[in-house]
Amino acid sequence: MQLYNSLTHKKAPFVTHTPGRVEMYTCGPTVYHFAHIGNLRSYIMEDVLEKFLRYEGYDVNRVMNITDVGHLASDADTGEDKMLKGARREHKTVMEIAQFYTDAFFEDCRRLNIKTPDVVQPATGCIDEYIKIVSGLLEKGYAYQAGGNVYFDSAKLQKYYVFNDHNEEDLAVGVREGVEEDSNKRNKNDFVLWFTKSKFEDQALKWDSPWGVGYPGWHIECSGISLKYNGEYLDLHCGGVDNAFPHHTNEIAQSESYIGHPWCHQWFHVHHLNTTSGKMSKSKGEFLTVSLLEEKGYDPLSYRFFCLQSHYRKALVFSWENLDNAQGAYQKLIARIAALQEDGSTVDETVRQEYRQKFLAQVGNDLNTSMGITLLYDVLKAKTSDATKLAILEDFDGVLSLSLLEKAAAQRAKAAAAKAAAQTSGGYTVTGEGDAAIDAQVLARGEAKKAKNFAEADRIRDELKAQGIEIADVPGGAVWKRV
Ligand code: AMP
Ligand code: ZN
Repeated sequence: MQLYNSLTHKKAPFVTHTPGRVEMYTCGPTVYHFAHIGNLRSYIMEDVLEKFLRYEGYDVNRVMNITDVGHLASDADTGEDKMLKGARREHKTVMEIAQFYTDAFFEDCRRLNIKTPDVVQPATGCIDEYIKIVSGLLEKGYAYQAGGNVYFDSAKLQKYYVFNDHNEEDLAVGVREGVEEDSNKRNKNDFVLWFTKSKFEDQALKWDSPWGVGYPGWHIECSGISLKYNGEYLDLHCGGVDNAFPHHTNEIAQSESYIGHPWCHQWFHVHHLNTTSGKMSKSKGEFLTVSLLEEKGYDPLSYRFFCLQSHYRKALVFSWENLDNAQGAYQKLIARIAALQEDGSTVDETVRQEYRQKFLAQVGNDLNTSMGITLLYDVLKAKTSDATKLAILEDFDGVLSLSLLEKAAAQRAKAAAAKAAAQTSGGYTVTGEGDAAIDAQVLARGEAKKAKNFAEADRIRDELKAQGIEIADVPGGAVWKRV
């Protein structure tokens, strides 16, 4: 595939260190609160990327951390510890908070059809790994101790701003948020590898280390976990665009200094989901969750569909109106698939291969998921058998994960069940679009008519009309449809 690489700022053919095998790393969630749907936009797009690479035939080893220690409010080592903040807010221990929100995260992923990575590693489970790397960096002269902490010495690098699109002004963010600068740092870009002199005396999780009892910095966890489970040659590193600086910049600095050669050659950054008033952010506390979408009657997969309709390198604006449109389009798509006949006829393999090639070329152009959606409609319009269409849709859905065939089958079953239920009511048959509540109303109208209660029959007809439902009388019953 062709993939944009944020390190080179170019789209280029995707390549791997070992032919046929992808070592892939994803920055996981900081589990001090629920994931908001912005976070989940990143995980949805990374999920499609992983599945697309598998569709291309790669063997993928995908690793993800769970940040349960060390992430401070400012991504640059200042501010409050996010986990402590969460624990205090809920009067629980840090580990309780971590477990609860890790489970909640995977439950959200399940509802959004996001596959669990091959390796999921909580940061607190790899302390020895970080100690090994920090010791190595001290030995090689890339790190120093000051005020009890261990810092990475960015002055030892020839180039620190590897992503090229950040400058010193970005570092002033912490200052703008009213957070003090750390006077132990020799250079502005230095960052903490290991904290011992934390200003947070109540830091709950601490471990013994050669530099005293303390805890790891946030950045070292991703280097440590990736080096342990992906090895020294990483093919693809993913995260939201806010991770590029300072988090990924620091990961590269410490990993390459430690291993002594280039580390990860392709970087994939998903742009933000914004609200109409700006970036959706967990720390601001104003965010939307998958559960909230469900409470409001949305299918989580409508949100996945919404995300896939736009390109991952463009900011996406969330509004209820946009989600309504996506949900409407998704439901219509399912209804069209439900109308295909599973007649057991043979699949035309030539057509299937032709569409497979189209999908590979079009979605493979920098993960153009909206082209993937467009291709679904092309398949529905294609001049081929329904069995072939269903087989192609199933192939594509292995990557897009919109549960297309399952939802269509469920809709067909619901319609069949509703029809069967209606047929048993006094010989009056209601045929509709598989909604038992509407069937019951249409049935009630039929009974009212039979009893010559035309006012009631008209009332029901008008009520349904107001909901966009049209009833047609047919011999022995009625047929309704949404218009
Ligand atoms: P966190 O749990 O804060 O560590 O973030 C988890 C992931 O979500 C990271 O990859 C972030 O870069 C990403 N992320 C944070 N905010 C947004 C947003 N508004 N839209 C898309 N991705 C985001
Ligand atoms: Zn990370």
